[in-house]
Amino acid sequence: MKILVTGGAGYIGSHACKALARSGFTPITFDNFSTGWREAVRFGPYVEGDLTDKGTVENAFKKHQPDAVLHFAALSRVDEAMANPGLYWRNNVLGSLNLVETAVEHGCLDFVFSSTCATYGDQDGVVLDEDTVQAPLNAYGASKQAVERILHDFSTTHGLRHVIFRYFNVAGADPDAEVGEFHRPETHLIPIVLDAVAGARDQVTIYGTDYPTEDGTCVRDYVHVSDLVDAHILGLRWLLDGKENRVFNLGTGSGFSVREVIDAARRVTNREVPTEIGDRRPGDAIKLVSGSSRAEEELNWQPTKSTMPQMIEDAWRWHQVADYKE
Ligand code: UDP
Repeated sequence: MKILVTGGAGYIGSHACKALARSGFTPITFDNFSTGWREAVRFGPYVEGDLTDKGTVENAFKKHQPDAVLHFAALSRVDEAMANPGLYWRNNVLGSLNLVETAVEHGCLDFVFSSTCATYGDQDGVVLDEDTVQAPLNAYGASKQAVERILHDFSTTHGLRHVIFRYFNVAGADPDAEVGEFHRPETHLIPIVLDAVAGARDQVTIYGTDYPTEDGTCVRDYVHVSDLVDAHILGLRWLLDGKENRVFNLGTGSGFSVREVIDAARRVTNREVPTEIGDRRPGDAIKLVSGSSRAEEELNWQPTKSTMPQMIEDAWRWHQVADYKE
């Protein structure tokens, strides 16, 4: 069975391709290589194309005739979305609309979508489960929420079946270190911390220490990328079994502050992490922690690697052997 994986050259998409190949599917990467890496396409063929160019999407469907879609490709930086919301609406929403329309036109009706907890925004004291009212703080979250709505409408009218995963913070790397996390520029906390540990940057700037949290820094719920992509295989099978459209949070329910992540990195690497305190980063939510176990209960998702030491250890191993750096 052929699965079109948009963003298959990126961090999460490349791990998903490995998991698909291991599970007997053929992943076909569709990527514009704007933030992904050719070297990360290791588990199946690829098509170079851009979702905002519908012709290239149509060509991919004509050539490979996929049976289902896993849609990872997106811009995903809060700072960039705050600075340039139009980029996010065009790339994430228009690109997804082209993809969804083309999938429907080709009768490819099983669709797994990467959404985000950023669609919830800041909700002090509210348990973030799949029924929580979405109130994104930035154009990144808003663009993902809009795509969720597109899927809903195409489902009603065209019978598109979909599973939506709202990710919390994805971290770690393939335990075999075949693929891992590598962005340029890097903006995510754990790889930045590891860059600082390795001396590749002077220090980690902590974005704000005056938040209303226990230690004053933002709190996030981190999930190991291998566990996350396992959920996608289960989500794909859910659709192939003919089950209903469903939204699932993917988080563990445990929150870690920025300072706690840095402390964990110190312990795992046994090295110093130079830090400085900076201003708050515009668009950041104070605390994003999943309050749902729907994925465990309904998909039988069993995250086994999503402990902070394990995520940092796997990310650190990858950091040391990564073979597609610059
Ligand atoms: N963060 C930080 N310094 C950095 C990068 C991130 O303090 O150099 C903080 C950021 O403000 C947020 C958390 O770490 O509270 C996780 O940020 P990341 O960009 O990794 O993921 P996001 O939560 O934005 O998806």
